[in-house]
Amino acid sequence: MAYDTNNVFARILRGELPCAKVYEDAHTLAFMDIMPQADGHTLVIPKEAAENIYDLSPEAAAALMMTTQKVAKAVKKAMDAPGLMLAQLNGTPAGQTVFHIHFHIIPRAAGIDLKLHARAMENPEKLKAFAERIIAALD
Ligand code: AMP
Repeated sequence: MAYDTNNVFARILRGELPCAKVYEDAHTLAFMDIMPQADGHTLVIPKEAAENIYDLSPEAAAALMMTTQKVAKAVKKAMDAPGLMLAQLNGTPAGQTVFHIHFHIIPRAAGIDLKLHARAMENPEKLKAFAERIIAALD
């Protein structure tokens, strides 16, 4: 499938849609998931136009993983998360719903089940507050 330049993350990258931004550099962007599976659920995307892991250049893959590690540390600290799950879905059968590659960073704690994937919209003010906590925890 050809990369859809109007997918929601491409539109966020172009500034056409808002996001609760956590981190940005020349190659990557991190922001809060609007339908989080747990408090602090954060997404990391490359600026390169790639749909999935197969399309991504090695350089963009390296930048994506470096930012994912940096933001994961901040999410763990900010949310005081005992566990942290990374997820990256490729293709509809795997559950991918936005066709611009991204890593999910999801805090986990014993006894707290994940909410359903991409189902319930979170209050934007709450997302902004989590983003501010995570920004403050970045090294
Ligand atoms: P995936 O199913 O792995 O492609 O995940 C896509 C994720 O993007 C889901 O967790 C959605 O909740 C999230 N999402 C969809 N639209 C937006 C948006 N405008 N801003 C932030 N997150 C979004």
